Amino acid sequence: MDFEKVKDTVKSAGFPAYRIAQIRAAVFRAGARDWDCAAALPAALRALLKESGDILSFRPVLIQASKKDPVYKALLQLKDGLRIETVLMRPGRTWSACVSSQAGCPLGCAFCATGKMGFKRNLTAEEISDQVLFWYQFLLKEKLGERVSNVVFMGMGEPLLNYNEVVKAVHILSNPDFLGIGQRHISVSTAGVADKFAKLAADLPQVNLALSLHNADDEERGRLMPVNKKFNLAALKDALEDYLKRSGREVFLEYTVIDGVNNLPGHVRKLGKWINEFRDHYLLHVNLIACNPAVGKAVATGQEAVKKFAAALRGFNVRVSLRKSLGGDIAAACGQLASKNRRRK
Ligand code: SF4
Repeated sequence: MDFEKVKDTVKSAGFPAYRIAQIRAAVFRAGARDWDCAAALPAALRALLKESGDILSFRPVLIQASKKDPVYKALLQLKDGLRIETVLMRPGRTWSACVSSQAGCPLGCAFCATGKMGFKRNLTAEEISDQVLFWYQFLLKEKLGERVSNVVFMGMGEPLLNYNEVVKAVHILSNPDFLGIGQRHISVSTAGVADKFAKLAADLPQVNLALSLHNADDEERGRLMPVNKKFNLAALKDALEDYLKRSGREVFLEYTVIDGVNNLPGHVRKLGKWINEFRDHYLLHVNLIACNPAVGKAVATGQEAVKKFAAALRGFNVRVSLRKSLGGDIAAACGQLASKNRRRK
């Protein structure tokens, strides 16, 4: 919902200012899913709001619940008919929304189902922030009792290739008039669009940055992630050094362990060396995750292989965490979005 547009509509139609507070309460506290649910508003105002647009900028087509994890995935149809996916998960005590920033993705990472779709278009800030509003409504409707506490830009698309709309979406999400999610609870995950790091540090200094690394060998990383041909490991290191200096913030290095592909002793050595060459290497934190069988012949990696890789990496004085892969049974885990064609309900 474009709340600024709603405010303008209400003001220019001559409704008193307190109606805006009522609209905010209906949408952002009571979780109204359409204007007819906002019973506190007079019928004339509801009619005006309906005429100017729906609360959400898309229509949910399918919602799936994982049978093994606290994870939900939604397929959403945008106004132009394109479809995106968004995920809600509770990895700990709080709910996190994993949002998409593009329909499809131009970067074509080998392990990612979204990359196989190709690029359709950038999402607007409204379409991005509405994914969180959608999950907020869902939590209220399902009486799951809690709010969305964290937002991660790890869904479909490369957020730094849709930079302006992503920055706008972060401002919308953190606006106390909207959902008021603190920027320190928002993370942007990039495949390595290094020329945007300095701008991100300046524009959103509170937001967390995560870099999908997956390999510390240029040739091998380039095969997994074609973006490495434009921004190789040396370019990433320069941009990250600068980012760490500007922000003083911890940066997360995401590393999907693909058994037999990027977890051999040589990979550990190269990754350990790459990290230790940073001036502020103590600000780098590696998150390891087991590969999901998203596309083609990829084989799921066992937890033992991930633990072994973690132990070897710790031998290089690197800070490492193991992230549990959630929602694999509904293709909601990393690299799986858009991995199946969904039929319309
Ligand atoms: Fe795009 Fe991210 Fe998938 Fe790479 S992993 S193709 S950047 S969505």
